[in-house]
Amino acid sequence: MTGMSPLQTDVLVIGAGPTGASAGAWAARAGLDTLVIDAQEFPRDKACGDGLTPRAIAEMTRLGMADFLRGRPSNWGLRAAGFGRTWHLPWPGGTMPAHGSAAPRVELDAAILEVARQSGARFAPGLKVAQIKPDADGRIREVTTADGTVIRCRRVIVADGARSPSGRLLGRTWHRDTVYGVAARAYVTSQRSADPWISSHLELRGSEGEILSGYGWVFPLGDGTVNLGVGTLATDRRPADVNLRRLIEQYYAGQAEEWQLSGAPQRVRSALLPMGGAVSGVAGPNWVLAGDAAGCVNPLNGEGIDYGLETGRLAAQLFAAGGAVTGDVAAEWVPLLTTRYGAAFSAARRLAALLTAPEFLLRAGPVGMRSRSLMTVALRVMGNLVTPEDTDAVARLWRGLGRTSLRLDERPPFAA
Ligand SMILES: Cc1cc2nc3c(=O)[nH]c(=O)nc-3n(C[C@H](O)[C@H](O)[C@H](O)COP(=O)(O)OP(=O)(O)OC[C@H]3O[C@@H](n4cnc5c(N)ncnc54)[C@H](O)[C@@H]3O)c2cc1C
Repeated sequence: MTGMSPLQTDVLVIGAGPTGASAGAWAARAGLDTLVIDAQEFPRDKACGDGLTPRAIAEMTRLGMADFLRGRPSNWGLRAAGFGRTWHLPWPGGTMPAHGSAAPRVELDAAILEVARQSGARFAPGLKVAQIKPDADGRIREVTTADGTVIRCRRVIVADGARSPSGRLLGRTWHRDTVYGVAARAYVTSQRSADPWISSHLELRGSEGEILSGYGWVFPLGDGTVNLGVGTLATDRRPADVNLRRLIEQYYAGQAEEWQLSGAPQRVRSALLPMGGAVSGVAGPNWVLAGDAAGCVNPLNGEGIDYGLETGRLAAQLFAAGGAVTGDVAAEWVPLLTTRYGAAFSAARRLAALLTAPEFLLRAGPVGMRSRSLMTVALRVMGNLVTPEDTDAVARLWRGLGRTSLRLDERPPFAA
């Protein structure tokens, strides 16, 4: 799809990762004429741990991807290790599925995109958005790609990932004074790729043995390989001063025996993660940002696939309700994101900011790891597994902390 002849669509979705594909699927299912575009050809790779939390499983099931999941490894929970202890913490279940999974992004993203196509969305690869100029009323009516293709549209869902070039053209600001992630992954051959637990090492150390504010992970993929990676938290004030490639090699060496790893780490890739809604300028009258573009990543564990799937659906539902055609969805999108994620993001990023201080981690780590009950609560909170339907004490406490944190925020999630 190249050349100067304009393409037309009602809903234009920019980016075909989990967020864009979910948005495309739900918009098309709602009967809207939908075009999803991506700068890359699919299938394409993406730096990721490939971990699917129960929340992602729930959203994929809602999309109709149960068959895809049946062919994947199913995990029971998290093996958390560090500060001299290891705990096996089952997923809490309740209103969420009691299992997680993992799938290489090159396969996962192609599969979600296929769902979008089967739902009726059109897909055009190799179209990189280069220019978006909203009209004087703030509405986007056309978008131009790097090869000069003009796409006319009535409304736009921007799902172009962490750096969100289209978001930037629309005035999006990513606030890096709030905690963000710096992470890398590799694929490694392992004799234990069918292990039913995903593993996180909460005591990540640098080359001098110094404690780092982050964690290492090993996520079994069930195909003779594991996804092995490291992630650290940073802020403008405390930038992550780490060589991720070296850190991955060091972490690999530390895990090689336990995970029966062999061969060199393959396809090492790193990326930044905006977190906790630390992004402003996420909507205009007929456009919204969703997924990573809107900073929808859990500050406590770096997961964003589930938020991408959810916010893609929410954006499509908002558009299906009609507001973006004549009204102003900006007035609805920020409150919607805030109601759904604001309190949890606010509390999580406050806690994550504490973890960027090595002294805090050195004190809190051993205390937290001493108690299985505390770690069970931590898994639920860190895994974003408290839902509005949950009425137990932990859920009430976490929501209460979130509300208080939100009230204290100088710049709440998604706010300017
Ligand atoms: C190392 C690492 C490990 C992670 N591990 C996990 C994990 O285990 N589990 C988890 O849930 N999350 C994890 N995450 C986070 C997760 O990868 C993201 O939250 C998720 O990919 C967000 O999906 P998205 O669709 O919003 O963005 P993306 O998946 O980044 O998709 C954005 C798409 O937009 C396209 N695009 C960009 N610019 C343009 C343009 N100008 N024009 C057209 N298209 C464009 C890109 O080509 C891309 O296909 C990890 C992240 C990192 C960096």
